[in-house]
Amino acid sequence: MRARSKSARSEKDAGRWTKKIIHVDMDAFFAAVEQRDHAELRAKPVVVGGDPRSRGVVSTCSYEARKFGIRSAMPLSQAYRLCRHAVFVKPRFEVYREVSCRVMNLLRQHTDLVESVSLDEAYLDVSRHRFGIEDPVLIAALIKQNILAATRLTASAGVAGSMFLAKVASDYQKPDGLTVVRPGTENDFLNPLPVRKIPGVGPVIEKKLLGMGYATCGELAAAPLRRLTAELGRHGEYLSRAARGLDEREVSPWTEPKQSSLEETFDKDTLDLEFLRGRLRAYAEEIYEDLLKTGRVGRTIVLKVKYADFRLITRSQTLTREPACSEEIYRVAAALLEEKTRAGKDAVRLLGLGIAGLVNREEIRTLKTPDMFASQGILL
Ligand SMILES: [Mg+2]
Repeated sequence: MRARSKSARSEKDAGRWTKKIIHVDMDAFFAAVEQRDHAELRAKPVVVGGDPRSRGVVSTCSYEARKFGIRSAMPLSQAYRLCRHAVFVKPRFEVYREVSCRVMNLLRQHTDLVESVSLDEAYLDVSRHRFGIEDPVLIAALIKQNILAATRLTASAGVAGSMFLAKVASDYQKPDGLTVVRPGTENDFLNPLPVRKIPGVGPVIEKKLLGMGYATCGELAAAPLRRLTAELGRHGEYLSRAARGLDEREVSPWTEPKQSSLEETFDKDTLDLEFLRGRLRAYAEEIYEDLLKTGRVGRTIVLKVKYADFRLITRSQTLTREPACSEEIYRVAAALLEEKTRAGKDAVRLLGLGIAGLVNREEIRTLKTPDMFASQGILL
């Protein structure tokens, strides 16, 4: 395990933390589970997602696959073109869910304030540790050990005074990293980082920022807010705050996800309706499969579209009964796309599909009226 602090300050400063946040992120999670369970996949480029001839996307890939430029959310066919000898495996969500559950339970041994943001990622507020450990760096090191011992998988951790900085820190030395941003060193840590290290900055925004002359967080932090909002809309304000390390969010404890969704930002903005329909079909298949595996059902189909100019819209439709096949999800989604959005007329940058208001199949039997679960709908 590597531990490195960006600060030259002494450990005594640990007492000056106003908030102690840890972000834990499993390393290449789905791919790491596959490599753990199948010895023949170790040290190989592994792409979790499915058949490269299908229209699916990469869920996760191993570090060996990343060397070829393969990334999450990339179409599988593109991953195949980048690395023809990669091993493509179908996701085993039930296994990932089980491992995730174990990891989250380990985290909750340290505090109740655990916010799980996905199967492989969580924030902890350890300002008041359950057993009174003061040093958040020690807690993070213990967590990494706990996880490795229980799952034979590595995680990276970031320790900082805010959720944003903790997340950027956990990504700083992957895999198996432990990065600490001590109080008072926030700007020293952020300023030299390239803007793409800010969560939410993908290739398109990165290019835009570079074009405006902002390559690092420090440069972005000094940028006039008016210029950023003029060029990037609402995103501008977030970026400006992020580059200065400003984040007031509180860690809010984990709740069962009430939706299943997939979304993808395309490499190029697209006007091609046929392509968008194809993506929806692939999402619908994956979502339906996920629902079957997890025994959940929901009736509200939610479509999310972000246009090239970053306008984001969601459109949803609640069915009278739950969809009986992926084709049904697809048909509703495609109708929403064609009738309720400007896809095909305005270029689309991101497309997402989800089912909201999910409940467990067993729970349904105990519900008095179908309306009770329609009202749980959560939009993307
Ligand atoms: Mg991860």
